[in-house]
Amino acid sequence: MANPKKKHTRMRTGMRRAANWQISAPSMAVCSHCSAPTLPHQVCKECGFYDGELILPRKVKKKKDAEGGGEAPA
Ligand SMILES: [Zn+2]
Repeated sequence: MANPKKKHTRMRTGMRRAANWQISAPSMAVCSHCSAPTLPHQVCKECGFYDGELILPRKVKKKKDAEGGGEAPA
């Protein structure tokens, strides 16, 4: 059986773990209807369209929010 000959140092263990902890930004697609950034293969949250079809009819908002807070900066 394969057996390690030497104990790995804490530094070496830490470097191995530190190399994989970073997360990456989700890949984004562009909505074909409203050109908003959306997750790929999912209904657009802005307009409710998917593949050129209206899937989720959106309710008409009474007051217009000026929030763009949930958007990814790009
Ligand atoms: Zn859209």
